[in-house]
Amino acid sequence: MIILEDVSKSYSTGAPALNGISLHIEPGEFVFIVGDSGSGKSTLIKLLLRELTPTSGKIFVNKYDLSKLKRRKIPKFRRNIGVVFQDFRLLKDRNVYENVAFAQRVIEVPPREMRKNVPSMLSMVGLAEKYKARPRELSGGEQQRVALARALVNKPPILLADEPTGNLDPKNSWEIMKLLEEINKSGTTVLVVTHNREIVNAMRKRVITMKKGIIVSDEKKGGYIDED
Ligand code: ADP
Ligand code: MG
Repeated sequence: MIILEDVSKSYSTGAPALNGISLHIEPGEFVFIVGDSGSGKSTLIKLLLRELTPTSGKIFVNKYDLSKLKRRKIPKFRRNIGVVFQDFRLLKDRNVYENVAFAQRVIEVPPREMRKNVPSMLSMVGLAEKYKARPRELSGGEQQRVALARALVNKPPILLADEPTGNLDPKNSWEIMKLLEEINKSGTTVLVVTHNREIVNAMRKRVITMKKGIIVSDEKKGGYIDED
């Protein structure tokens, strides 16, 4: 589903953010990416979204060879990937329903289908009752659940989450991670960047640890590797 072959990425300043990363992720996997701040995790996510291009190496995402992807094909390619971030990134002046429906409007889903898909996603994340609320009327955990519903309403095969629980308390963090696990069980390939040591250790998933732009460990049913 995701293949990186000897991928490096340098920004104009400083040491390479990624330095020769190779990685295979199979369809249906659940993978945690952990590592200190600055180790290259978000750079990896941006490369997978084709927000950045690598300085060298090859990237394949759901059979797309990103080095051959034409600029005008990028929007269609991105339909393969749902994405959530630490800061939720909801439309503040739209209600919950509209935030999720927006993703469907972009790809021109017929209104009849949209009126089924949006409520069904909102029930999946436990927010069916709050469809009229604005983001500021919701807790952080609820906002992240709206972001998840929006990321998934178009049924992408891949979900990328860059520190999705970074702004949440432990209870809400667990709820989001359990939702990600459920989403994965229904077949979506899930990649989660996180610093949440307790959750990573408890969930026993594949754990890829990055340090200074390289992968220092990759373990099935792994845990958070302690520094020092
Ligand atoms: P992480 O998400 O693991 O904290 P990042 O991928 O954001 O790491 O950053 C990796 C390295 O690349 C860091 O040294 C960071 O300062 C650098 N970096 C990230 N984005 C940029 C940018 N737009 N321009 C220059 N350097 C950057
Ligand atoms: Mg980051």
